[in-house]
Amino acid sequence: MTERAFFSGKEFDKRFRYDGKDLGALCRGGRTSFKVWSPLAEGLTLRLYRDDSSAAFLEKEMEPGKRGVWQAEFPESLHGVYYDYLVKNQGKEVTSADPYAVSCGCNGARSMVTDLRLTDPPGFRGDERPAAGEECIIYELHIKDFSYDAGSGVPEEHRGKYKAFAAGDGQELPVCMKHLTELGVTHVQLMPFFDYASIDESGDGSRFNWGYDPLNYNVPEGSYATDVRDGTVRVRECKEMIQALHRCGLGVIMDVVYNHTYSGDSWLERMVPGYYYRHRKDGSLSDGSACGNDIAVGRAMVDNYIADSVRYWVREYHVDGFRFDLMGLLTVELMNRIRRELDEEFGPGRILLYGEPWRAGESPMERGTHPALKENAGLLDEGVGFFSDDTRDTIKGHVFHGEVPGFVNGGRGLEDQILHAVTGWRDGGASIVPKSCRQVVNYVSVHDNFTLWDKLVLTMHKELRQHCWETDFTSRYEDVLAANRLAAFIYFTCQGNLLMQAGEEFGRTKLGEDNSYRSAPEINMLRWSQVEDFGDLVAYYKGLIHLRKRLPGLCDKAPSAFRRIKDQKVWGPGVVSFRVDNRSSSQGGEWDELCVVYNASDEAFSMELPEGRGLWEVLADGREADCRRPAEAAGGFGCAEVVVEARSGMLAGR
Ligand code: CA
Repeated sequence: MTERAFFSGKEFDKRFRYDGKDLGALCRGGRTSFKVWSPLAEGLTLRLYRDDSSAAFLEKEMEPGKRGVWQAEFPESLHGVYYDYLVKNQGKEVTSADPYAVSCGCNGARSMVTDLRLTDPPGFRGDERPAAGEECIIYELHIKDFSYDAGSGVPEEHRGKYKAFAAGDGQELPVCMKHLTELGVTHVQLMPFFDYASIDESGDGSRFNWGYDPLNYNVPEGSYATDVRDGTVRVRECKEMIQALHRCGLGVIMDVVYNHTYSGDSWLERMVPGYYYRHRKDGSLSDGSACGNDIAVGRAMVDNYIADSVRYWVREYHVDGFRFDLMGLLTVELMNRIRRELDEEFGPGRILLYGEPWRAGESPMERGTHPALKENAGLLDEGVGFFSDDTRDTIKGHVFHGEVPGFVNGGRGLEDQILHAVTGWRDGGASIVPKSCRQVVNYVSVHDNFTLWDKLVLTMHKELRQHCWETDFTSRYEDVLAANRLAAFIYFTCQGNLLMQAGEEFGRTKLGEDNSYRSAPEINMLRWSQVEDFGDLVAYYKGLIHLRKRLPGLCDKAPSAFRRIKDQKVWGPGVVSFRVDNRSSSQGGEWDELCVVYNASDEAFSMELPEGRGLWEVLADGREADCRRPAEAAGGFGCAEVVVEARSGMLAGR
């Protein structure tokens, strides 16, 4: 029998599926219990240590229990004690940390028993997630990028750390936090902050990695903590970060990577060899993640592990949502289960869920499961969203082919596409029709691939590519700025959720580097002087963010919302317009109707705004967002004319 047939068969589940919620080391009420699921092991030894490097002070044979769970009990609190296991499988003995560990020592090889109540920062019990607003405007941020630059205003010892977010606690906020809170976004999406393997936590802090290489799924990463050896510190400081963001009214979305692990030789593999990974027919590890292994989502204990982990982060850390890396390697069934469980425990729709609806390659799925790919949008719950690569590529050009332009930077024949994007593709403009625009995340740049600025320079200033990118972080090109504003204007006037990469609002460049996952922090970090250098662009984004929240016709997430988009017109190459029914029953809408024009052409475009009741006001154009000025009168009653400058947008309301 192959491994796959063995682990996927009903017989295995019947004997070994364990649905208890007490795996790991639980420490409360003056007792400590260790439980680990390792159904095929011939023996397990628990080893206890005073710290993360000294020799064991106690070894204890674990007792085999029901359904493959091994256990040991102590009538005392072992908070702060480190531990690992010696696991014997098929005659071979290996050391493993606890896959269910909630904390660990330096570099994650030893788990730490943690009485979680002792890790709460002051006031954490009273911490509340921000109320849901009219719109989700999400800011993708890397913890180290945020405050590594001295210009962040964060004290040196806290730069690049969890502590940077809490730096202004009780006092004036540092530059980076002030900017983040004044921008108006509703959520930050933090790139991986579970414990990952690629950074040596004992290093000097000059190394950088995005962190898509999970080591301990339920432990915060140590390199962002001020002490990597005392496991309580990373837990407490991670909670402080979330608490501080909540205090500023920002929700926290966690970027999670349940599709693969750093290495196929993980704690999971050591506990149950062969169970947690997908294998090809020849027995080799499958590689749909392009990272060397794929987690076998669809097996009972894999799904339990992931669903439990997600709930743990919400319950213990007060996380407000999740962004699933390569969600196409996970299953529709698991995503819908997670949605249901979170709704039951935390209230319907309270926790955001969305992911990348793709995978890097084929992966052998369990029978009866469906990959959570874009084409299965119809099977996914309406509350499971996905990034719209269609909207992204239509606006700025193909993500992998750097020189291919999109609508705003010289691409041709994209007028119909861009109008479909406005409805979040709900109008049937693509082969994939989401259940509602609630499932759609609109964006033009994230950590992967070129920053928006670099993509625009690459397509619009081919002659500058080589020399200017050697050192120059601050060059301004007026045509690139105009295209940047138009790109932002377009996705901020599309229905669906909105997401932006940190620094998109101040011309962030990585000097043409399109895969900076382990580049120097100096390439990756946010340069806070750019907030001033690109102050006009920052003001434009702020305006769009503020305006968007007041446009119920665009914020509407109902399945029927696409019907609010009317009168779509293509006026010529690069020029389109549409109207929006902006009425709202729940809120006092300021404008009943909107008229939106995108002009990506090289010439100004003038248009008569439709007749009707009320006077048109221009609310945003190519230079200013969130303005209010009367549109020029043009003849008859209610008629008005607007001139939309070359490469710019215009939004009017009445
Ligand atoms: Ca780590």
